[in-house]
Amino acid sequence: MKIIGIVNQKGGVAKTTTAVNLAAYLAAQGQRVLLLDMDPQGNATSALGLRDAEEGLYEALGLPGKVSKYTQASVQPGLDVLPATPDLAGAGVELADDPDALSRLLASVSGYDLAIIDAPPSLGPLTVNVLAAAHRLIIPLQAEYFALEGLAGLMETVERVQESLNPQLQVLGVVLTMFDGRTNLAQEVETTVRKHFGSLVFSAVIPRNVRLSEAPSFAQPINLFAPNSLGAAAYQRLAGEVMERVQKS
Ligand code: ADP
Ligand code: MG
Repeated sequence: MKIIGIVNQKGGVAKTTTAVNLAAYLAAQGQRVLLLDMDPQGNATSALGLRDAEEGLYEALGLPGKVSKYTQASVQPGLDVLPATPDLAGAGVELADDPDALSRLLASVSGYDLAIIDAPPSLGPLTVNVLAAAHRLIIPLQAEYFALEGLAGLMETVERVQESLNPQLQVLGVVLTMFDGRTNLAQEVETTVRKHFGSLVFSAVIPRNVRLSEAPSFAQPINLFAPNSLGAAAYQRLAGEVMERVQKS
């Protein structure tokens, strides 16, 4: 099982939107996918229709041998979810001293080809657990000014985790999100980001698309909610590129 963390400590850059829709397309393409919602806000959990989860990832962290007890099927066949529950908000304190908790949990998971982890908007203990558990990272960048702001801090944290907790950690790619092709700004940001990260940047660019922002309130990923939208096409393409890179690495 390949473990992919979706990380960026900035909020609102489309981590959750990317985790949910990428996971859904990977499942639709035949992969067996487990999405782990590591953000106490639980946006990925509700976006996939699991609004009333009472137990989930937090409880599973305490009982790694029993993870299937807390795993739920989503609306997308082939995609299961370890939901976030409000208890996860308090887990930061416990996880601060235990950066390998998520890693241990994932070591006890079987039956999936891919695990996708939605990280919270911080570099705190929950995110450090994601970095310690993941093989690969996908970094969503919003195509706006300050897209690269904070990235130095993220990269430093990634390097620290590589040196200590998780030597196999690598960045799988950077994805530009909420791209508004009508503005010069977005195009300038794309040029800057491609100059900075080179081939690490996925060819697929996620456009600003109202269907992507509507889908969570209908508790469906974009491939089910609006399969003919531009947002759907972009995430489908991203999923194809992610599979290619995962198979090569
Ligand atoms: P994060 O998880 O990084 O905080 P979200 O995925 O929750 O970011 O996205 C922040 C907001 O932007 C949400 O309301 C989401 O629906 C919206 N959004 C994300 N991507 C797009 C997009 N491509 N087009 C339009 N709205 C988007
Ligand atoms: Mg989020």
